[in-house]
Amino acid sequence: MGTAKESTGTAAEPPTLLDARRLVVKIGSALLVDGATGRIRRDWLDALADDVAACRRRGQEVVIVTSGAVACGREHLGLVGRALRLEEKQAAAATGQIRLAHAYQETLARHDVTVAQVLVTLEDTEVRRRHLNARSTIDTLLKLGAVPVINENDTVATAEIRFGDNDRLAARVAQMISADTLILLSDIDGLYTADPRKDPDARHIPVVRELTPEIEGMAGEPPPGYSSGGMVTKIAAARVALSAGCRMAIAKGKRMNPLAALEKTAEDGGALCTWFLPSAEPSNARKAWIAGHLNASGVLVVDDGALRALSHGASLLPAGVKEVVGQFDRGDVVIVRTPDGREVARGLSAYGAEDARRIAGRKSHEIETILGYHGRDEMIHRDDLVVR
Ligand code: GLU
Repeated sequence: MGTAKESTGTAAEPPTLLDARRLVVKIGSALLVDGATGRIRRDWLDALADDVAACRRRGQEVVIVTSGAVACGREHLGLVGRALRLEEKQAAAATGQIRLAHAYQETLARHDVTVAQVLVTLEDTEVRRRHLNARSTIDTLLKLGAVPVINENDTVATAEIRFGDNDRLAARVAQMISADTLILLSDIDGLYTADPRKDPDARHIPVVRELTPEIEGMAGEPPPGYSSGGMVTKIAAARVALSAGCRMAIAKGKRMNPLAALEKTAEDGGALCTWFLPSAEPSNARKAWIAGHLNASGVLVVDDGALRALSHGASLLPAGVKEVVGQFDRGDVVIVRTPDGREVARGLSAYGAEDARRIAGRKSHEIETILGYHGRDEMIHRDDLVVR
């Protein structure tokens, strides 16, 4: 499998669930809701709640990111046997979400654990002021001993500004609250070198230490239909989590007590899963926020000189920018690309798109003459830049 770095756990033992201090668990619709009846699988959920309560008793903080609002709600509105329009999905989410919240509340009450519902949109995680606000609310809930149960606010999120999948939402939440562990409970027990349903030679990968192009290539094609999950969004989630210094596991949820199974390694009789491990040096919170940004508003195309400078940790100067694409304001996240379209970095632009266009390719000492004011020398300062 080329140069992808992997290990079988012999060099350094993979972690277990017991290593987590602040844990985000993502639960997919297919695990929680019976597709045929729209009913919540209460026996499965009760067993999961037992696992969550066990984590809490050990002093671990737990946040749940749950899907299933649409799957659970459509039955109750008689929206069955056909594909739904967007507004029907949003209506289904509105009625399903209340049922989901109720089920979590009931099942965790068996352990005297308080549940708090938090519904977020993409903007709540991407606009920094809202992101900080959501973070302090979730922090406060955890300090007060509650288990936040989070979903996307599907009823108001529009197609352009929605996550659409809870894998990436969960990673953003993990990054937002500085979680150290993210578990994606899935219908598959991790990442394989190829699709194991099609390729008998597909090998399971227990540990991923770096998201190389080979690893990304193993994600394959996204699945059709509404459930926008699949391996592609899970790898995207891993990118966000790892850049925030958060380890992530993809583990099989279609079994009872899937979290308890992760207390042990597969060799010790626990669950088979794939652990994605962050490098030893997690970037600081600001850089993590930049790296995990999903909605960059513009692109700066840079030349070879700038590319070399970036790889040595320098700032991006206007002189190295060949082209400015899109509309953005000062302080917005932009993507830095090579002329052939490869993303090399993300950062906060010191200039809005109009001014950036005017100073692109020019020397920093010319900025004042061109724009009529003395702005920053850099297009993106190195403190605001995350190089891939
Ligand atoms: N937020 C969606 C729901 O609750 C699920 C998104 C997903 O499939 O991950 O139905």
